[in-house]
Amino acid sequence: MSSQDKVTTPSEFKKWAKKRNYTLFIIQFKLDGISIELQYEDGIFQYAITRGDGKVGDDVSANVINMKGFIPKLKDNFTGAVRAEILLLHDIFEQKYTDKQNCRNAAAGIVRRKDGVASGDLNLIYYDAISLSDYVIFKSEIEKLKWLKEQNFQTVRTKTVKSVQEVIQGREEVMTNIRHTLEFDIDGLVIKGKEIDVEDMKRAKPMKQVAFKFQVEEIETVLLDVEWSISGHNYTPVAIVETVNLMGTTVSRASLANPNLIKELGLKIGSEVMISKRGDIIPKIESVINTSTNAKEIKIPQICEVCDTKLINEGTRLYCPNEQCPKRYYHRVRKWIRKLGVKHFSEKLMLKPLFDNGKLKNIARFEGVQLLLQFGIIPISNS
Ligand SMILES: [Zn+2]
Repeated sequence: MSSQDKVTTPSEFKKWAKKRNYTLFIIQFKLDGISIELQYEDGIFQYAITRGDGKVGDDVSANVINMKGFIPKLKDNFTGAVRAEILLLHDIFEQKYTDKQNCRNAAAGIVRRKDGVASGDLNLIYYDAISLSDYVIFKSEIEKLKWLKEQNFQTVRTKTVKSVQEVIQGREEVMTNIRHTLEFDIDGLVIKGKEIDVEDMKRAKPMKQVAFKFQVEEIETVLLDVEWSISGHNYTPVAIVETVNLMGTTVSRASLANPNLIKELGLKIGSEVMISKRGDIIPKIESVINTSTNAKEIKIPQICEVCDTKLINEGTRLYCPNEQCPKRYYHRVRKWIRKLGVKHFSEKLMLKPLFDNGKLKNIARFEGVQLLLQFGIIPISNS
């Protein structure tokens, strides 16, 4: 629920906790995805709706039934709702959706689609349930999670602690050591007590739980240039920025996702920008602080540098429409080689030269599969 109460610092959290007097705190990951509610009647799935801003949203049932973790029929004769977050995992994002700003944006795009395509790329993780039947009664938050697990729902990671200090330490631990090891994005923790208050849960902003957000590391730098990284037929902008230190790593490149983002930010070469690093590996440009009058416009490529075809700019992606574009073939062959699991086949030292001098054009036209596999056993260093 994006609408819950938020705190961002330990002192704010202490203030919040003082009003509650909890003797036990339940800590859960705050999943950074799309919140939905799934309705069940007598244990049978009825429909799923998005839950933006605590209001009832769109019916997304047709997409939800294809998602990983969807359960059409429960073990129990349950009538009520379960709440889940729709998440796109990092590895699928890297494979297919790097033209989107982040996993959540990509997931939102898929959820909104009417044709149901790509819904199978999404995962559901469950964190809450509201029972309307006398048959299933939850006496505490812990019991509720246990029940979700018994129904085979994949549930959010949960921990219980006894003091405010332990909550603060837990957040610190997740923020610095655990978050980066997860296969999905989280942007904080949800903290609640063990008692269930159904009336409070129905509020747009439940008062008995709070989102304890992670602190976002941001730093100011300058946009020096924009490079266009070509993957298959897609041209993706990459920001080259003045080198800065962000969360202990040296950063000189930042993600820009697509041409629309450049427009939305009003970004120019020479703009002073804010970059951040959240759970993601690649830092992002968050905002433009200042752009001087002598800053230069960012040139968006018009022509495919490989086949001279006019590129198509859809805003959310820029691509070469030529089906015969060698870049497409290159991408396919590279994927194919990865799939074959050929070891020691260096892309830089072997695949690219083969393409560049015309020896290799496509999978079907590459006659020496044996030769390729032979290459494969030649150990060549990538460095
Ligand atoms: Zn092309």
